Amino acid sequence: MKVLKFGGTSVGDADRIRQLVAIVQAEHVWDARLVVVVSAMAGVTNRLLEAAAAAVRGNVAAIADAHAELRRRHVEALRQLVPDDAERRALTVELDALLDRFARIGEGIALVGELPPRAQDFVAGLGERLSARLVAAALRQAGIGATPFDADRLIITDDTFGAAVPDLAATALATRARLLPALDAGQVPVVTGFIGATPEGIPTTLGRGGSDYSAGILGAALEAEAVVIWTDADGFMTADPRLVPTAQVLAEISYTEAGELAYYGAKVLHPKTLLPLIPKAIPLYIKNSFRPQAPGTRVSATTGEWRADIKSVTSINRLALITVAGRGMLGIPGIAAKTFAAVAAAGVNVLLISQSSSENNLCLMVEAGDAGRTRTALHKALAVEFHHGCVERVDVLQPVAIVAVVGAGMRGRPGIAARIFSAVAAADVNVIAIAQGSSEINISFVVREDASAHAVRAIHEQFGLGAA
Ligand code: ASP
Ligand code: MG
Repeated sequence: MKVLKFGGTSVGDADRIRQLVAIVQAEHVWDARLVVVVSAMAGVTNRLLEAAAAAVRGNVAAIADAHAELRRRHVEALRQLVPDDAERRALTVELDALLDRFARIGEGIALVGELPPRAQDFVAGLGERLSARLVAAALRQAGIGATPFDADRLIITDDTFGAAVPDLAATALATRARLLPALDAGQVPVVTGFIGATPEGIPTTLGRGGSDYSAGILGAALEAEAVVIWTDADGFMTADPRLVPTAQVLAEISYTEAGELAYYGAKVLHPKTLLPLIPKAIPLYIKNSFRPQAPGTRVSATTGEWRADIKSVTSINRLALITVAGRGMLGIPGIAAKTFAAVAAAGVNVLLISQSSSENNLCLMVEAGDAGRTRTALHKALAVEFHHGCVERVDVLQPVAIVAVVGAGMRGRPGIAARIFSAVAAADVNVIAIAQGSSEINISFVVREDASAHAVRAIHEQFGLGAA
């Protein structure tokens, strides 16, 4: 049994959905036990959330506009995919029922001028409910028995709306109880990505881009033999091909490497996707739905030979470096604890931490949009330390970028860091801060944003990653 996940561009219009059908048909010949997971059509989630945000500001027309546009888009795809009148009418009724719920909730939001988190999650997840019905209908046209499933009956989560955490044991029970009978009956379930629900049945979402994660969760629940992420890229690469034209696709990487790369800016996979798969050693494949014949990347516990000492170099831009500094920080315990507690309480995500051994300062990287909030939170939380003079400043430097070099080959091998930093120095790029994970498969450092591309290219070149 395999789980096949298709992202927003892979279900973006009728043509793309036809391509999806061809891919599923080709798999179906070998093994009919398939579960398909879909994202919303490209752009739909943003459209829904923008309309809801406009409604909060009292703009009801935004809801009507979004409703009309989303209806047009889905009905048009349906018209192209399902020629049979009766079947098409029945589906239009289903899509309209969902779209009408959106319109009513939207009007409610405009009326009260507020968007409670649970309403936001319901609205955000509507695109997947629409696309799952569309895709199931398209598969049926091709002679594959397909049934849409809303994942709020399958993926059981806590109530952290917007970034809900799945309960894997409860999810396995619910998923197996509902999907195994469908699979046994020869059906291909087409499941909504991105959404789940609390045990009480209140819909949640797994976080933006979370449909990949849904596929990982369902793959683990069903003990699939593989999870395949069908996307619009060829796989994990040695670098972002827009920055480095000679970048190569990595045929094989380990779970840990893929996790680091996904975390540090490789956009091909949601970083949490692998978590449920790792304990069960279920391999994951990244494949390009625009070029299904391309081999893609295999992600698993073991990897084959690789010709270079590192595998990939990535960068994340639009970040800020926050430095908590003061000569009196030396030897005073608790400042780091207070700093991180304050940042966490402000709901800010920290991407990198580094402290100099003189203990005079503590650096953390956050997204540029969070910098102001983080600084305010730190001033408040460290008020006593400021008063006593042991903390003197909270500095913000932006825009900066993290460059991350990843590869299991650097573990226990001396000299890799030296090669990285001499390449960066030769490119005339100044390094602001450095961090290495103790797993030794990642070295990350901070540079000015306008220097990040130079640093990436210099490292890619130094390690010969572009040579085939
Ligand atoms: N549709 C959701 C989003 O845009 C989830 C996904 O596509 O993975 O974030
Ligand atoms: Mg995605």
